[in-house]
Amino acid sequence: MRLSPTSNAYLVLLFVGIVAGALCGWFLGPAMESVAWIGTFFLNALKMLIVPLVVSSMIVGISSMGDVRRLGRQGGLVFAYYFATTGLAVLLGLILVNVMRPGVGVGVTSTVVPDVVLGKEAIGFSDIILSLISPNVIASAAEMQLLPLIVFSLVFGGVLTTLGEKGRPVIAFFDGVNEAMMRMVELVMYIAPIGVFALVAAKLGAAGGGDAFWGELVKIGKYSATVLVGLGVHAFVVLPVLLLLLTRRNPARYGLGMLPAIGTAWSTASSSATLPVTLECAEDRNHVSRRSALFVLPLGATINMDGTALYEAVAAIFIAQAVGIQLGVGQQVIVLLTATLAAIGAAGIPQAGLVTMVIVLNAVGLPLEGIGMILAVDWFLDRFRTAVNVWGDSVGAA
Ligand code: ASP
Repeated sequence: MRLSPTSNAYLVLLFVGIVAGALCGWFLGPAMESVAWIGTFFLNALKMLIVPLVVSSMIVGISSMGDVRRLGRQGGLVFAYYFATTGLAVLLGLILVNVMRPGVGVGVTSTVVPDVVLGKEAIGFSDIILSLISPNVIASAAEMQLLPLIVFSLVFGGVLTTLGEKGRPVIAFFDGVNEAMMRMVELVMYIAPIGVFALVAAKLGAAGGGDAFWGELVKIGKYSATVLVGLGVHAFVVLPVLLLLLTRRNPARYGLGMLPAIGTAWSTASSSATLPVTLECAEDRNHVSRRSALFVLPLGATINMDGTALYEAVAAIFIAQAVGIQLGVGQQVIVLLTATLAAIGAAGIPQAGLVTMVIVLNAVGLPLEGIGMILAVDWFLDRFRTAVNVWGDSVGAA
């Protein structure tokens, strides 16, 4: 039995890790917080690779297109895919939340703006545009702000292709860096089964174990169910149908190929931390062309978030229903647009969507205090939306 991270035996181990983590966290509760450091070790090992991986992937991806002028068509297609699928996800969320009406009769349970959004109450459209460019690309790398790094690497890679002889060794250098990073990803993946075990067990333990967590979940059970049903339909119907129609690939087989990435996304709640695994699965397990994977996946991990967009729309309308504010069609269209924007603006890190939700709430005049009502279960829903985010990126790469 081969146990390389691309084998199915490895996949089984990974899922044993997740299930064992959930069981231990559920039954042993806060005691499992003692293994949190093992999860952090795994997470740090993944994060360690992100900056060199993103920079080299974007440079190699863009330069392997040969002529930068071809970027127009490819880039246009990629962005059209991102916007279309994110828009579809929000629409699906809006339909479900209007049909299921999870907020009606819940009553307002929170009167304070939670700490996570304090100081960020005024973020808006201009902040998202400003976040594209960094005045100090080294500082951005140090703080793992991926969007400005991606923009810098895209322009850098594009310019390299116009330099002829002088550009070639630089591109070859980054190509080597990229290959080395991918081998390092494989090494890190060997500790993933125990890493995901610790992440899941410690998080559920920190939430007080199974009973305490379940108590919180059922309090806003209808809201959680709406989010989960929406994510399920998007992941199991919308995206597979798109994959089938656009690429003629078998969605079940392709999904199986991406499972280590989807499992890692669920366990880490971070698209960025999962990116190394997503690249590995797309290239090695699903044989997506290297050029597409390198270009589409880092960008997707940062800006293409179908799950987050769907969740933001559901959460905003849930809050409106709970506080008794009726939103008309015009205002729901504003929710559709701003939820798409808020998902683009959210970083690929845990609970980033909770913060960018202030854009949606502010746009339609809903109270930020409403975020307090969904805070307790957000860490849990975050895992599912992150998994859908990564699945959406993977379909895009195909
Ligand atoms: N955790 C999500 C991700 O990394 C972002 C979010 O919705 O909070 O994709």
